[in-house]
Amino acid sequence: MYQSFVGLEIHIHLLAKTKVFCSCRAAFGDEPNTNVCPVCMGYPGVLPTLNEEAIRMAYLVARALHCELAETTVFDRKNYFYPDLPKNYQISQFHSPVGTKGWFDMEFRKQQKRVRIHDVHLEEDAGKMIHAGDISLLDYNRTGTPLLEIVTEPDLELGEDAEVFLQHFRRMVRYLGVCDGNMEEGSLRCDANVSINLRGQGLGQKVEIKNLNSFKFVRKALNFEISRQEEILSSGKAVLQETRLWNENRDQTESMRTKEEATDYRYFPDPDLPPFRTDRTFLSSVEAGMVEMPLERRCRLISEYHLTESQADFIFDEKTTADFFEEAVQKGADPGTAAAWLSGDVQKLLKRTSISLSDSPLSPERFADLLTLLKEGNIHGKIAKQTLDAVFDEDRDPKEIIRERGWEQITGRNEIAEILDKVIAEHPRASEAIMGGDRKPMGFLVGRVMKATSGRAEPGMVQALLQECFEVQFAKHMEEPDAHICS
Ligand code: ZN
Ligand code: MN
Repeated sequence: MYQSFVGLEIHIHLLAKTKVFCSCRAAFGDEPNTNVCPVCMGYPGVLPTLNEEAIRMAYLVARALHCELAETTVFDRKNYFYPDLPKNYQISQFHSPVGTKGWFDMEFRKQQKRVRIHDVHLEEDAGKMIHAGDISLLDYNRTGTPLLEIVTEPDLELGEDAEVFLQHFRRMVRYLGVCDGNMEEGSLRCDANVSINLRGQGLGQKVEIKNLNSFKFVRKALNFEISRQEEILSSGKAVLQETRLWNENRDQTESMRTKEEATDYRYFPDPDLPPFRTDRTFLSSVEAGMVEMPLERRCRLISEYHLTESQADFIFDEKTTADFFEEAVQKGADPGTAAAWLSGDVQKLLKRTSISLSDSPLSPERFADLLTLLKEGNIHGKIAKQTLDAVFDEDRDPKEIIRERGWEQITGRNEIAEILDKVIAEHPRASEAIMGGDRKPMGFLVGRVMKATSGRAEPGMVQALLQECFEVQFAKHMEEPDAHICS
């Protein structure tokens, strides 16, 4: 009888090389307080300047989310005091964000679902506080790094659909190349607001939840919070407007503070930064950054290459994998085989060597060559796998490896027949048994031929020749019992 409403506020670290209003390096993991300057340290009298790469990425995300793009966007000061914010205000956007009124379509439990985007705005991140015993340490390297905030409308309902949305969103920003999406390093952080009400009564009293730094926590915290609010309402009490924190050790949300209103921040336009106006050159550079969106690509992988749903799920997940796959197919690899190898043996090798596909010795060209050699019968499956291993170990072309080691498959009829004759002669008891009507030793003889050729004889050809040979023998045996085998 209750209906729940969930909205997300997602912060992503943009992959710009420098901070958003100064030229300090924006990087994770550097020696504390080495990437700082008077601007990001908030010294009096200094002037911020807008990072063009960051603003372009901001517009790109807004564009990908189908937002209305602001022709003029302004920066505001959001005033509050916190030790990791040396200026005592954060430069953010309130009055005219980069993008508004967007949407993102996804599928949830076999149903189409549209999540509306309230706005996309660019701001600066705060520093990092590390609490060690009874002292607190401050690292200002992160202060002023470009942060993009994406605010959704409360169109989600559960921990589960919020989790799915966030996964789609993360994949999208990775496809766009604007964020690495690494939640452990805080490159993608998520807060949520949750309210419930009697069905049909609209939004309820909103509670904000902070600290959702993994997909699992998003799901668990939201579901916990929805149940908590249901219990409060069922017992006739009212939900308090507040900010709560997800406590991962106790698996519950806990009150942190009663929530500030927007007016508490006394937003006003930053007098140090002129409004940013888009022009045709800027907008076309934004457009140039657009790529096919992940879900569209997934559809195309299925329709164009006839991949199964699970193959497509594997290939589309990372843009680099999808690019690699399509390039290999273009260079002659069979799509189904390529997908199966990528999700199977190639994936295993990448895990074992802990490198990414794009950094691995396997190029789309080498991969296509290997699969073509396999398809055309120059090598068989087991040799192909050995060759793949060797490509990874030695960083060389499959053709070269196969040629050098003499791994080509033996498909010549005469060559195989010759080896077969020898094997049969070496195992008279096996052939006697076969002649006597017991077909079991046939497999044994095939195995011997494979062994004699180090697995290079084409198994189908060996089978066929063996069959032929004994049929001839049977026939001869009937006529003249002493006939010599296979000659
Ligand atoms: Zn700086
Ligand atoms: Mn923010």
